[in-house]
Parts: sequence; structure tokens; C-alpha cells
Amino acid sequence: MNIQDINIKYKKVLIRVDFNVPLDAERNITDDTRMVKAMPTIQYALAEGAAVILCSHLGRPKDLSADSDDRQKYSLSHLVYHLSELSGAKVQFVDDTIGAEVEAAAAALPGGEILLLENTRFYKEEKAGDADFAKSMSELADVYINDAFGTAHRAHASTAVIAQYFDKDKRGFGMLMNAELTNARKLSHNPAKPVTAIIGGAKVSDKIQLLKNLIPVMDNILVGGGMAYTFLKAKGGAIGNSLCEDDYLEMAKDILAEAQKENTNIYLPEDSVIADNFAADANTQVVASDNIPDGWMGLDIGSKATQVYSDVIKASKTVLWNGPMGVFEMEAFSKGTFTVAQAVADATSDGAYTLIGGGDSVSAINKAGLAEKVSFVSTGGGAMLEFLEGKELPGVKAIEG
Ligand code: AMP
Repeated sequence: MNIQDINIKYKKVLIRVDFNVPLDAERNITDDTRMVKAMPTIQYALAEGAAVILCSHLGRPKDLSADSDDRQKYSLSHLVYHLSELSGAKVQFVDDTIGAEVEAAAAALPGGEILLLENTRFYKEEKAGDADFAKSMSELADVYINDAFGTAHRAHASTAVIAQYFDKDKRGFGMLMNAELTNARKLSHNPAKPVTAIIGGAKVSDKIQLLKNLIPVMDNILVGGGMAYTFLKAKGGAIGNSLCEDDYLEMAKDILAEAQKENTNIYLPEDSVIADNFAADANTQVVASDNIPDGWMGLDIGSKATQVYSDVIKASKTVLWNGPMGVFEMEAFSKGTFTVAQAVADATSDGAYTLIGGGDSVSAINKAGLAEKVSFVSTGGGAMLEFLEGKELPGVKAIEG
């Protein structure tokens, strides 16, 4: 059920949001994307006259003792001012997540206003998925809404366990969560062909399961980034000092064989921009990716590979992109990633459905200024990948029950 299908008029509504925003040393928010993306759900609930209770985690607090630095650093109190600016509503903050003080504040909260609770991860019970902790939170509200797609793959107290304490007609997805799921399903259920996945990033171990599961779905898989070199070595290439995970060479071979069986084209970069040092000002040259001299490492796909990848992308009707093609943070190794970003945008304007999922490709598409030119940019890297790997997301299962 979605929030719009539930009667929340003048009710107390507890919304699990993902306000896990980056903060600088002065506790200023450096990127408010996650807060902005939660606004449609919050605004909708406020407009319905609901009293809106928000909970979220922030960062990974380790020292949970009273007055610890982590409690200072990761307090949601740092978000109150910006939340009131974004929502235009009155925001109260309570420096706990459960307990008498929170219950009193929730009970007294008028419709059309927001009560922000303290970081759910200040209780170890959150990550442990503790039932009593979840039940205490549930007692604050009549309705529970999960809009935290970014943590939907975690079976934590506030993201999953809590849902069982609400009847089926009193729990549902927020608008962001619904949009994420709708878009993820476009890729996993009968996507328009040809379907192409662009998979990059540093480590093959992070994405190997995804690659495996994508083979039956995809017509083309374009491999870039550091992970390409494990495949190139598995095929007998010389990769110099490029990133390589030797433990995964066999699995890489299996994947290549499996793809051949399923008629899925796996592309490896035929050339690479190589460097004699992992540094922005390193000496560079472009060589064949399977003939990299010792002492040199591949840090971006080369111009031939970039051309091939762009052509495949532009000929596709559905595109998934996860992970950069090179060390795009350094200009000398960013061309492959930005050219691929442009090709994804071009494919979109030609009518393809394109989904960008995963932290670094999202920041690459933002850096390229093309985020508005693709079909959907996912907020949940890990959750999106697990969904596409075919895993059930605990946060989704708990609502659907
Ligand atoms: P991931 O988090 O696995 O998606 O990896 C993203 C990171 O991979 C980015 O910070 C890139 O700089 C890095 N990366 C991409 N290509 C390479 C490469 N060829 N060698 C080393 N690091 C890379």
C-alpha cells in the first residue's frame, strides 16, 4: 500500500526517512539530496493535516555512551533548521527515540507540524532489529510509512521490524520508496530490448553477484572501472599494476562462460588510459588493456572502448548504469565516465529508459550535469543492487507482509 491509499487525515504518522546526509566538521549539511527527496511524502502528510513524526539514522555512530563525541557528531538536531526551511513547517526536535519524553512530545504534536526524533542508531537495538524497541517506536503513531529506500535492504528495527505492529491498512510506502520500487521493477520485469548494463567501480567482489544475476536479463554488459582488470587477467591479459582481485579470477571466467551460453555480450575495454602512479599528475598513455606494462595501471577506459560503449548504449532501449568507468574524481581519468554519462543521456532523449543506481555513478552523473537528462536516479545504491540481484528487501517485505 502507498501513503495515498491510507487514511492519514489528522492522524499521527511515523515516517521512516533516510536523512543520512553528509555533514562537514562544523555540522553543516554538504549535500541535502536525501532530505529533498523525502519532501514529497512529508509535504503530502502535512497537507493531509497529519502530525508527522520523523525518524532516521545518521552515519555510523560507534560510541553510544552518554555525552560521547559520536552522539554530538551524529545527532539529528543538526538537521532541524534545514528541515524547517525545506518543509515550511514547524519542526520540534526531541533528543531521544523512545521513552516518556518522546511519547509526551508525540502525543502533544498538532496536525501540520513535524516532530523529529533522535538518531535511531543511538540505540544498538536499531541495527539488532530488536522487537521491543520497534514496538516502543510504533506506539508513537497510528500509521507507519517507510520512505527510506536507502536502508530497505536492512532488517533494522525502524526499517522493517516495526511494520508488524501496524495493521496492513495502517502501514505503507512513501512516495520516494514507491518511485524507487516502480523504477527498479521496470528493469527487472520485461524491459524493452536491447537491454544494456554498464557496470564499473573499483571492486569486482562487490558486483560479481549482480553481474551473475544480470546475465539472463541483459543483452549487453559493459564492464569498466578497476573491476575490468580481473576479467582481463582471467582471459590471460597482462594488466601491469592495475587493480585485480586474484581470488575472483575463477569466478570471472565462469561469468564469461555463462554469458556466452546465455548469448549475453560482455564487453571489456579494449584499450585503457594507464598511469605510472595513482595520482592526478601521473604520466599517462593509452594502450591495449591486455598489454599493460609492469609499473603501470589502468585508470580509465581508452578512447576506442569509450566509442564502442557509447555506440552500444545509444542503440539500447533500456540501460542500467552502476559504477564509474575510471577514477573519474581525477580529470585525467574522467573522460570514459563522462562520455558514458553523455551517451546515457543521449539514449534517454532517443526514448530509452535509463536508470542510474549506486553512489559513485550518481555523483558522476551529477558532476556531468546530466542528472535531469536520464529517466531515474536512484537514491539507494546498496538497496537498488540487492533488488536487482533478485534479493527480497526486508523493508519492502515488512510492509507487504
Ligand atoms: P565503487 O564504490 O566500487 O563503485 O567504486 C568507485 C570507485 O572506483 C571510484 O572512487 C573510482 O575512483 C574507483 N575506480 C574506478 N576505476 C578504477 C580503476 N581503474 N582503478 C582504481 N580505482 C578505480
